[in-house]
Amino acid sequence: MNRLYREYSEESRDKIRQNPVIAYCDHCGFAIYESDDALTVNDTEDIIHSDCWEEYAIEHMFELTKRISDDDPLDRDN
Ligand SMILES: [Zn+2]
Repeated sequence: MNRLYREYSEESRDKIRQNPVIAYCDHCGFAIYESDDALTVNDTEDIIHSDCWEEYAIEHMFELTKRISDDDPLDRDN
């Protein structure tokens, strides 16, 4: 029982040691650990959790995209 507990806590400590914080998420502000799925957004160079992508994309929609205006019509006929 004691041995099991000790192995468990050593394993947890190892996990923490092996997964240092590499950055803080530019969306939620929480730490990103080496083991987390993290993304660098190409256009903004923000670093975010991959789980934060959807909310991030909504919040930064017009940094990542632009509205199509009538002045700038898409040329779709080929
Ligand atoms: Zn996040």
